[in-house]
Amino acid sequence: MSTKRPLYVGIDLGTTNSAAAVFDGERVDLIRTAQGGTLTPSAVRIDARGKVTVGARARRFLDQDPDNVRVEFKRLMGSQQTLHFAASGLHKKPEELAAEVLRSIREDVKAQLGVLPGQAVISVPALFELPQIAATSEAARLAGFDRVEMIQEPVASGLGAGFRAEDDAGAFLVYDLGGGTFDVSLLESKEGLLRVVGHDGDNFLGGRDFDAALVDHVLACIRAESGVLIEHDDPAHAVTLRRVRAAAEEAKIELSRVNEADVVLNDLAVSGKTISTSLTIDRATLERLAEPLVLRTIAICRRLLSTHGIVEVPGVARVVLVGGPTAMPLLRARVGEALGAPFGEGLDPMTLVAEGAAYYAASSGLDARGSSAGPASAGAKVWLQFPAMSSDQTPFVVGRVVDGHDLSRISHIVVSRADGSWSSPKEPVDSDGTFTVMTSLLPRRSNELYIVGFGPGEVPVPLSPSELVIVHGVTLGDPPLSRSVGVALASNGVRVFFERGSPLPMRRTFALRTVEALSPQDPVGGLRVPIVQGEFNYAHLCRLIGAIEIKASQLEDTLPVNSLVEVTIELDRGGRLSASACLAQSKQIFEHVALLVAGTVSVEQLGPRLDLLVKRLDELRSQSFKLGVQRMIVTFATADELASDAARVVGSARGGDPDASERAQRLLIDLDSLLAEIENELAWPELDARARRGLASATRWVGEFGSPAEKQVLANALTSMEKARVARNSREVSVQLVTIRHLASNAIMRRPGAWQEEVDECAGKVAETRDPRAAAKLLDEARRAVDRQDVPDVERAVRAFWALLPGDPEDRQRGHSSGVS
Ligand code: ADP
Ligand code: MG
Repeated sequence: MSTKRPLYVGIDLGTTNSAAAVFDGERVDLIRTAQGGTLTPSAVRIDARGKVTVGARARRFLDQDPDNVRVEFKRLMGSQQTLHFAASGLHKKPEELAAEVLRSIREDVKAQLGVLPGQAVISVPALFELPQIAATSEAARLAGFDRVEMIQEPVASGLGAGFRAEDDAGAFLVYDLGGGTFDVSLLESKEGLLRVVGHDGDNFLGGRDFDAALVDHVLACIRAESGVLIEHDDPAHAVTLRRVRAAAEEAKIELSRVNEADVVLNDLAVSGKTISTSLTIDRATLERLAEPLVLRTIAICRRLLSTHGIVEVPGVARVVLVGGPTAMPLLRARVGEALGAPFGEGLDPMTLVAEGAAYYAASSGLDARGSSAGPASAGAKVWLQFPAMSSDQTPFVVGRVVDGHDLSRISHIVVSRADGSWSSPKEPVDSDGTFTVMTSLLPRRSNELYIVGFGPGEVPVPLSPSELVIVHGVTLGDPPLSRSVGVALASNGVRVFFERGSPLPMRRTFALRTVEALSPQDPVGGLRVPIVQGEFNYAHLCRLIGAIEIKASQLEDTLPVNSLVEVTIELDRGGRLSASACLAQSKQIFEHVALLVAGTVSVEQLGPRLDLLVKRLDELRSQSFKLGVQRMIVTFATADELASDAARVVGSARGGDPDASERAQRLLIDLDSLLAEIENELAWPELDARARRGLASATRWVGEFGSPAEKQVLANALTSMEKARVARNSREVSVQLVTIRHLASNAIMRRPGAWQEEVDECAGKVAETRDPRAAAKLLDEARRAVDRQDVPDVERAVRAFWALLPGDPEDRQRGHSSGVS
C-alpha cells in the first residue's frame, strides 16, 4: 500500500481487545502490532518508574502483577472513577488509559505505513451514553488525533459486512457479543444504502459473564476439594480472584475448539494459606453455565425484532456475528436455531468492526494523511470537492480554479476514469473559475479518476491535484439515538426533547419556566437545568448526563419566578451534546453550558441505597398482600432476583472491583424503576377512581361552560382515557387526566363569580408562596380589580399568584435539583 493513495483509518476501541484497519479506497488491511497480531488487548501497565506498556505485553502481566495492570477501563468511560497503579502511585482516568491504547495503535500504523495518522474513525457501542462518547472523544484528543469521528459498533459491523455483500437486499441483524457488552442491531441495505432500523442490547453482558460463571464453578470445586473459601466481597482475595478469572477465561477460549480444558493454579494465596489446584473442565459443563447467558442475548434479539414488527422466523435474511464469544459452538447453534437465518460468510468476528470503521472514514473523507497531504503535482491549482465514498453511481465533482492567472489558460475540464473506458464531456469553466463535472463510477469498487484542463485550441493544461479516488459502495443514513434525552423538571418529571430512535443530528428548543426568583446579588443561588437520558417518566430514574448551570451572579437583571427560559439541546451525528439557555426577558444567552457529568458512584452509598430499595420492596409486597393483588407475583420475583443480583455485585464493589460499582449502580436503577412500576400497579385503583371523578366533573363543567372546541377536545380525551383504562395503562391515564382536569378547571373558572371567589382562596395562601411579598402585591391588585368588576384583570392577577405557589421540594430534589418546570 503506498501513501500516494488515500489512507482511511478505522479503530475498534474494544473493552477487551482493540483492532485497527486501513482502507486505501480499494483494499482493506489490518494493522499489525509489534508482536505480529491483529488485536491490541485493551490493557495498560504502568511500572514503578511510570513507564507505560500497552497491549499484549501489558496483559501478560495481569497474572503476576495485577496491581499495575488495568483492563476493561472502557466500561468506566464517562464516569469519574480513576484507576490506581500501585507501584507508581498513579491514578489514571479511563480516557487516559484508552488514549494509551489509541496512541499505541497510531504508532503501529506508522510502523506499517510510514504515516502517523491525524484523523480516524473510532467505534463506540450503540448503547453508549453521551458522557461515554465524550470521554472517547477526549481519549482520541489525548492520543494526538486532530480529528476523529465516531461510529456505532454495530453500524461499523454492518458496513464491514454489507460492503462485500453481493446480494444486498433485505434486513439483517448484527449480533455483537464482546467482552463486556452486547449489542444487537437491525440493519437494512437497499440499493447500496445502509440504514440502521433499530438497536437494542445490554451494556453489562459479555464474555466476562461467562468467565464469572466459570469462576464460581471453579471456586466451588476448590471449596469441595480443599475446604478453602474464596470470596468475592473480601478485598484480601481480590488478587487471587483475578488469577482464577484469568485461568477460567483461558479455559473458556480453549473449549471453543476442544472438548476439555485444564485449569491449573499453583500457589494461590488464600487467607494466609497457599493452595494449588488442577481441574479439568469439559465443554458440557461450560455450556451448562453459558446457556442462560446465551438465552438472554436471544431474548434481546427477539425483543428488538418484535419492536420492529418481526415475529416470524426467519425475520431477517442474514445474521452477522461479531465478537470473541461468538466463536462458541453452543452460541452459534442456539442463535442460529432461534433466528433461523444464515450467518454472514467469510467475515472475521474479531476485526469486522475496525474494517467497517475504515470504510466509514472513507465516506467521511477522513484521510489519515491530513487535509494538506495529497498527491502533489505540478500544474494549475484546483480546489476540488467530491464524496470520497458514494452510493450514487454518478456523483459530481465540483471545483474551482484557484489562481486568476491560470483561469485565462483554462476554459474546459475533463474527468476520465483510469481504466480508460469512460471520460466526461468537456465541461466549461465559468468566469469565476468554478466547474461541475458528472462522473461515472464502476459499481462496488474504488474508482481512480484523472482530471485535466483544456485551454483554447485544445491544449491540455495539467492540474494539481491531477487525480482523485471515489469509492462506489454503501453509505450510511444518520444513526438513530439510543436513548431519549430531555430536561429534568422540578416536579421530578421529564420534558423529553428527543425520543429514542430519532435520527441524529438534531436540535430542538423548548420554553420552560423558572421555579424561583433569582437576583444578581445572590452569592450562592443559581438556575440549574439538568439534562437526563433514559426512558422513564421520573427524572430520578434517568441518568443525569449534563446540566446548564447559571450562577445568579451572572445575571444582568433579577429573574422573577415563572420567567421564560428557552432551552436548546443539540446532538451531533456522533451523539455529542451541546446545550444553551436563553432568558426570554433579558435576552441573555448562556452558551456551551452543557457540562458533562457522569453519575457518581460512591461505593459507600451503594449498600444503604440497596437497603432502602429492599425495604420499599418489602413494604410493597405486604401492601400488595393486604390488597389481595394476585397478578404481581412474577414482578415481585423479578424484583427479588434483581435485589439479590445487586447485593452480590455491591459485595464485589466493596471488595474493590471498580467495574462492579458501575454495574451495581445500574442494577439499583433497574430495581428502582421496577418498584415504580409496582407502585403504579398498586396505585391503580386510586388512579382509576381519580380518573372517574375527573371525568364526571369535566363532563359537567365543560358541558355547561366549555366552548365547542373544548367539547371536542374533551370528547377525544374521553375516548383515549377509556382505552387507557381498559389497557390499565397508568402512564396514559395520567396524561389524559391532566388534559381533562385542565379543561374542567378552565370551564369552572367561567362560572360567574369564579375568579372573585378564587381571590379569597388566594388570600389564605400568601405565606406559602415562594415570594410572599410579590404574592401580597398580586392579591392587592386582584382585590382592586374585583372592586372595578374587571374580570380579565382579576384573572391575570390570580394566575400570576398561582405561579408563585411552590411545588413539592422532595420532588424537586429527586428531579436532579431542577430549577425549571
Ligand atoms: P470487546 O469487543 O469487548 O473488546 P472481543 O470481541 O474482543 O471484546 O471479545 C472478548 C471476549 O471474547 C473475551 O471475553 C474473551 O474471553 C472472549 N473470547 C475470545 N476468543 C474466544 C473464543 N475463541 N471462544 C470464546 N470466547 C472467546
Ligand atoms: Mg467489540
